[in-house]
Amino acid sequence: MLSEHTLYIVATPIGHRDDLSARAIELLQHVDRIYAEDTRHSLPLLRHHGIETRTLALHEHNEASRISMVIEHLRAGFSAALITDAGTPLISDPGFRLVRACQQQGIKVSPVPGPSAVTAALSVSGLPTDRFQFVGFPPAKSTARQTWLQALASLPHTLVIYESPHRIVDSLADIVTVLGAERRMTLARELTKKFETLIHGSVSEVLSAVKADANQQRGEFVLVIGGQARSHSTEPELNAGYAQAADLDKTIITLLPHLPIKTVARCASELCGVNRKTAYDRALKMQGR
Ligand code: SAM
Repeated sequence: MLSEHTLYIVATPIGHRDDLSARAIELLQHVDRIYAEDTRHSLPLLRHHGIETRTLALHEHNEASRISMVIEHLRAGFSAALITDAGTPLISDPGFRLVRACQQQGIKVSPVPGPSAVTAALSVSGLPTDRFQFVGFPPAKSTARQTWLQALASLPHTLVIYESPHRIVDSLADIVTVLGAERRMTLARELTKKFETLIHGSVSEVLSAVKADANQQRGEFVLVIGGQARSHSTEPELNAGYAQAADLDKTIITLLPHLPIKTVARCASELCGVNRKTAYDRALKMQGR
């Protein structure tokens, strides 16, 4: 299962140490080297899973200087894995420059997928996931953060934001100011860990809950925020996929003057990925208008 000359990008747990996949364990046991963002942080996880492979540091500050060494090693016929402190490397984590350099040098890069806080938080947010945008960490200073939020304010799809404990309250306050108090959101804290907490509600409700309890200001956070206008919809079909629904309407309006309604529903259902009954009911509604 292991190929020579290959760099594996291996996802590790975001909290619960048993969330390391069986394939990841086997691979990490057999590669020639593991490059880790912080070797001291990763060693307990590796040892817990019986992984004794030689581990070297590769982080934000030495990534550029390590690249030629890694490439030389892979060229010589060895294999290596890149891991970071938590989750999927390159997702708000080091590795981009190394992966790009490997590509440019014709060296194979292969993923070993697994946890990421983005997908874990989205999966339990109860907000539309048919389209979303991951925007990483907001700027640290409030003025820059508000400008950054302003650029996201009119997007119709769900936003996923990372935040640290030092700034969680200030960031939520800026979100209320710029995106408005009423948007639906989920604050996902300490996912897969002992104090995992999910707070669902309007942005202002979540801010109040976090402000009121110092424990809610500790740990690691993902903020999942409904897009503009979509999160308040009461139409089930739109809640299920607002972006799809918009495309659906456009498709139906285009086809209705030219085709029988059943054909419109069939085509729209295939083109927009919604079921045929939803497309048919929508077409009926629009025909009546
Ligand atoms: N590569 C990681 C991933 O795939 O999710 C993200 C690394 S980034 C440096 C760290 C941030 O991810 C944290 O500040 C937090 O926003 C989020 N995060 C990581 N683990 C988390 C967890 N267990 N619960 C909530 N958020 C988490």
